[in-house]
Amino acid sequence: MDFIDVILPIPLQKAFTYHITEAESKFLKPGMRVAVPFGKSKIYTALVFTIHQNPPTAYDAKTIHQILDDKPVVTTTQLKHWQWIASYYMCSLGEVMRAAMPNAFILESETIISINNSSSVEEHNLKDDEFLIVEALQHQSSLKIGDVMSILDKKRVLPVIKDLVDKNVLQLQEELYEKYKPKLVRYVKLHANYKSEEHLQNLFEQLKRAPKQRDVVMNLFVLETESNASIKVSELLKRSGATSATLKTLIDKSILEEYFIQTDRVQFKGDNSSTAKTLNDAQQKALTEIEEIFKEKSVALLHGVTSSGKTEIYIKLIETELKAGKQVLYLLPEIALTTQLVNRLQSYFGEKVAVFHSRYSGNERVEVWHNMLENSEKTQVIIGARSSLLLPFNNLGLIIVDEEHEQSYKQFDPAPRYHARDAAIVLSNIFSAKTLLGSATPSLESYYNASSGKYGLIELNTRYNNVLMPDIELIDLADKYKRKRMKGHFSDRLIEEMIETLDEGFQIILFQNRRGFSPIIECTTCGHSPQCPNCDVSLTYHQYRDQLRCHYCGYNSIMPKACEACGNITLDTKGFGTEQIEEEVKTLFPDKKVARMDLDTTRGKYGFEKIITAFEQREIDILVGTQMLTKGLDFRSIKLVGIMNADNLLNFPDFRAHERSYQLMAQVSGRAGRTDVRGKVLIQTYNPHHNILQQVSSNLYKDMYKEQLDERYNFKYPPIYRLIKITLKHKDYNRVNLASDWYARSLKQVFKQNVLGPEFPPVSRIRNLYHKNILIKIPQPQSLPKTKEAISKIHNSFLSIKDYRAVRVVLNIDNY
Ligand code: ADP
Ligand code: ZN
Repeated sequence: MDFIDVILPIPLQKAFTYHITEAESKFLKPGMRVAVPFGKSKIYTALVFTIHQNPPTAYDAKTIHQILDDKPVVTTTQLKHWQWIASYYMCSLGEVMRAAMPNAFILESETIISINNSSSVEEHNLKDDEFLIVEALQHQSSLKIGDVMSILDKKRVLPVIKDLVDKNVLQLQEELYEKYKPKLVRYVKLHANYKSEEHLQNLFEQLKRAPKQRDVVMNLFVLETESNASIKVSELLKRSGATSATLKTLIDKSILEEYFIQTDRVQFKGDNSSTAKTLNDAQQKALTEIEEIFKEKSVALLHGVTSSGKTEIYIKLIETELKAGKQVLYLLPEIALTTQLVNRLQSYFGEKVAVFHSRYSGNERVEVWHNMLENSEKTQVIIGARSSLLLPFNNLGLIIVDEEHEQSYKQFDPAPRYHARDAAIVLSNIFSAKTLLGSATPSLESYYNASSGKYGLIELNTRYNNVLMPDIELIDLADKYKRKRMKGHFSDRLIEEMIETLDEGFQIILFQNRRGFSPIIECTTCGHSPQCPNCDVSLTYHQYRDQLRCHYCGYNSIMPKACEACGNITLDTKGFGTEQIEEEVKTLFPDKKVARMDLDTTRGKYGFEKIITAFEQREIDILVGTQMLTKGLDFRSIKLVGIMNADNLLNFPDFRAHERSYQLMAQVSGRAGRTDVRGKVLIQTYNPHHNILQQVSSNLYKDMYKEQLDERYNFKYPPIYRLIKITLKHKDYNRVNLASDWYARSLKQVFKQNVLGPEFPPVSRIRNLYHKNILIKIPQPQSLPKTKEAISKIHNSFLSIKDYRAVRVVLNIDNY
């Protein structure tokens, strides 16, 4: 008798066993997909893990429905890496599989399909089964795959559906995402309203009294006849000498129409080498050091100040790997993965570069996956966010983890709650490859590992071209308020510097760590502030929609006219967000172009790209934003950076708050003065003597590191101790309390005083569930596997207690 153990894309503790025939056993290999029945009526796509002769003892093995692949779609190295992730982060292999594989790979009975309207179906080309599905979808907009089984009256439907998806006739529900566009260029044309002679006549009549606008339209016509091609906004502005304000008026009046075109990646083909830069001495020295270190160690940390030219060093390293026929993975945090950087790499490596991240549609992900399985030329360099680690590499030589300090490398929800930097090092080791971590502000973890000799360390202290580090000035808000030198949230110094910068024709960014107009509304009579009904937080005011919103669950309501507690109309705002800063800037500088970049403004179609392109094309003078501003943006003409309030960073209730404040402020500051002019940074704060602010303003990373490390040592936090956080969630307050008390008591029997809690976090109710946390601190000599074994035991006994069964427990290893 032959059996297979399969991975199902669901959180099961153990692999599930199915019965297969002898012929199937000869054919199947680990990493191939099979369709299997599960539970009463479900069908899943499962992944073959092992093939063996041992029947399961607890249940009768069912037979599989069918084999879906003729060769593995997941490699044995991937399986090995996934196993490490599952065991280290205490989750199931199925959860890792779900995070790794595009949805189109793991069709299941619950998957929802619909007609793909972007392609036309030619009915006579469809087979009988296919026709029946398409016909059914003409009567209802979507179907579950389970429904298709009853329509076709058979169980083996996945291949039919897979074919239809491949042919673009059907799409999966999850794929209704917008497609990510690698690079958008802004174009302009005459609005369709003016296509006829007669309308054109009217138009010129209408523009008689607006000579500037008329001039722009004339120039557009001239350019169009000259080049017989689409006209870029930048071209038109240059030719007509008009301002972007004039252009905007024309667009607002629907005389002109803007549109965006994606520049083709293939355009880089052929001219790769022409742009290769020569490293300067400092860069060359760093490169040689890295190469030397890699002879002995597999991991190195490149600590290079902002704009020191780290990316150019990466490019040289990538070149070497490609020459040796190896693959390279270039990891970036999601928000740093900008078209700017992708273009930069594509201009060197052309078609060898593939991009992979969450904004990609399912189809694009499937394409990258297949190319990698075939070891295609097109996937020699993968640039990607966190999850690109889980792709089918086959001869990886190097992983670069850029901005390695970024907390978004850690996945919070759902499982696998893995840290991409750490999982990258493990992946690299499986391939006997190298890992280079890079940052201007390394995490305490990595700098600690580098200082102790576990990793190599390379320091690069000068900016490329010897541009000076920005000049950072601290502004004492208490003093400014006392002496009445504030206009709204702007000190006189900040306003002065802004005026000077704008006069010189440079751009400005203003950083505020919160979105929304002002975070909280408070009644000045009774002190009440409106709360989210589902979560234990105050609602945030968003002026744009005149709404109160919850940042945790998305709940929203209209802004009340009077206090709902006491009825007085004395509602006032407390604190401030990006939206309010934007409003204030517009009042202070009415004739300047101001834009805002935060989660709210970048959500829409291409929102992020639009803002970046506009900033690049200098259609924006002042950009206000949250930490989205800090990453990977390389703009030439920013001279001034204003940090509106450093205190809400420093006072954040988290043991990493100080480290993070340093990193954030140093990174935002690094956006200033990237060419030959020295940048200026103003930090407004009530605590100008705070050590972190002193360290940021003098660029004293090592002082920050030493001081923070001492604190971590004293208070038993990473990197000195390891942390495991256990969160219990339930809608009933008492049950969370009882369950977490039981859990913590059991843990304390084993780990004694190294168990903290249970405790409610600052926001203790989210989406109607109460949360309670238990923290386990693990001293260095204590074995991590043994610790987890002990936790697992307690966890399993917990699950067997009937009263607690409904309580959700989340295990978070190395919680960041
Ligand atoms: P970092 O990644 O350290 O912030 P970058 O690699 O983005 O720095 O370099 C900063 C700027 O300097 C970029 O615009 C880059 O093109 C330029 N630059 C860096 N090194 C060189 C070089 N060797 N030759 C020419 N330009 C360079
Ligand atoms: Zn809420």
